[in-house]
Amino acid sequence: MNSPFSTETSRHPLADYGWDDDWAAAFAPYAAQGFVPGRVVRVDRGQCDLVTPEGPVRADTEFVTPHDPLRVICTGDWAVVDPDGGDPRYVRTYLPRRTSFVRSTSSKRSEGQILAANVDHAVIAVSLAAELDLGRIERFLALAWESGAQPVVVLTKADLVPDAATTAHLVSDVETAAPGVQVLAVSAEQGLGIDVLGALLDGTSVLLGQSGAGKSTLANALLGADVMDVHAVRDVDGKGRHTTTTRNLLVLPTGGVLIDTPGLRGVGLFDAEAGVGQVFSEIEALAEGCRFHDCAHEAEPGCAVLAALDDGTLPPRRLDSYRKLLRENQRLAARTDARLRGEMRRVWKMRGAEGRAAMEVKRGRFT
Ligand code: GDP
Ligand code: ZN
Repeated sequence: MNSPFSTETSRHPLADYGWDDDWAAAFAPYAAQGFVPGRVVRVDRGQCDLVTPEGPVRADTEFVTPHDPLRVICTGDWAVVDPDGGDPRYVRTYLPRRTSFVRSTSSKRSEGQILAANVDHAVIAVSLAAELDLGRIERFLALAWESGAQPVVVLTKADLVPDAATTAHLVSDVETAAPGVQVLAVSAEQGLGIDVLGALLDGTSVLLGQSGAGKSTLANALLGADVMDVHAVRDVDGKGRHTTTTRNLLVLPTGGVLIDTPGLRGVGLFDAEAGVGQVFSEIEALAEGCRFHDCAHEAEPGCAVLAALDDGTLPPRRLDSYRKLLRENQRLAARTDARLRGEMRRVWKMRGAEGRAAMEVKRGRFT
């Protein structure tokens, strides 16, 4: 990912982890003060594991654990770390995120939770061994687009499809549900299509998809058994350079890294209206042609969406799915709003009790 105009002759030690000229530019003011850059591999119990040019570092996250759960440091963040010597070493801040994966937490609390930062590619694994569920694929696509990452749909276990014509047919079915997204059929078992996928995945990637979709098998195929061994050897040599301390952030032999955190399995929609719009970009484009700006595409005259349904260019399933995902997202958003309103009420009550000044002090502490 280095610029072709870069004058650097040797690669940055973090290049394998996604470090590029833009990150270097963003980090420059901190570098001038002696801080060290590090990519967050995992966060736990008030500390995080990082890969840095000095090797693996464990640092305290006290300063990057604000109340807003979306701003808590997470796997994939580029951290600004104290220079060697301090005990503990602190993460002082992290560079502005390019993308972020958020999970809507369980039905009781609809607060979003940050799962992974700075992901470039979201690989949506879908098994060809089961009947295709286009609605589910669209849901994962909405999540992926919403994060800011570029989705790619990988149809796994292609070896279980009886012939190539059927596979091609399935690929094109999925393509109708995924405008602007590459759809690939692969077989980890037979090693088919893995190289094509590997070549696509520069920067940082994550694997999404249902349990049993073949994500772990795909990850192993992308990583290659040999590479895992190489890592083990490097770990043993004690220099710690180019090694990951856990399985959360793994270097791909074809370049780039794969983030595999348990939390990413089972993500839900969270405030993903923009993402939903991107999944159904052809419907949003059609809607531009509706006579009424606020057309609901129900029965309005001059509705371009209904016209496309009529002439068969828009499959009814797509419109249904679009509506379903928008509704689901609105329900979640409403729940979040209700929770926020509740929280606001608590805050105002507290203000009454403690007085405004005390509240200001408290606020200052958490921002
Ligand atoms: P995950 O839950 O998404 O991580 O899925 P796994 O990687 O654990 O795979 C689920 C099952 O699918 C396992 O039994 C795998 O052996 C099987 N599987 C994965 N990839 C392939 C493939 O390319 N071909 C076949 N035939 N089976 C596969
Ligand atoms: Zn309309």
